[in-house]
Amino acid sequence: MSSHLAYLILGSNLGNRSTNLENAKIKISALSETKILKASEIHKSPAYGPIEQPFFFNLALEVDTKFTPFEFLEHLQKIEKKLKRKKDSHMKPRTIDIDIVFFDDETIDTPLLKVPHYDWQNRDFFINPLKEINCQAQEFKNFNFD
Ligand code: ADP
Ligand code: MG
Repeated sequence: MSSHLAYLILGSNLGNRSTNLENAKIKISALSETKILKASEIHKSPAYGPIEQPFFFNLALEVDTKFTPFEFLEHLQKIEKKLKRKKDSHMKPRTIDIDIVFFDDETIDTPLLKVPHYDWQNRDFFINPLKEINCQAQEFKNFNFD
């Protein structure tokens, strides 16, 4: 089985946000076939979207995994569930959100999984943590940030 280089953004804006991120990191590093290679510091930003809600805490991970993209997503969603993320939390406060931003330099465009993440270029809370860990995804390196 070959190794893949994936970039994740973890976010939390409910409960003890640093603890939630730390717990998610622990669970990701406990997955079989998966190693965290780099982790950014926590970046804080005001939440955006239709309703007012607490500051988001975000961090980026560089991960080596032997899972396929869909297997990996499934494992990450199980972790979100274990950390008690409520089902209806799209655009609402959530204990934990795990998004796959890049998976090697693959392009996947299905309802279940889109990589690169459809909105990464518009989100400073994705870009800044990814810059901190020196994201190697080609699309990221080619992007004009000015
Ligand atoms: P958001 O992250 O936009 O707030 P959710 O976390 O609730 O929304 O995700 C909704 C769905 O997005 C998930 O069921 C998942 O299958 C899908 N999805 C599509 N692309 C991705 C991706 N790159 N990373 C994580 N989930 C994704
Ligand atoms: Mg998500």
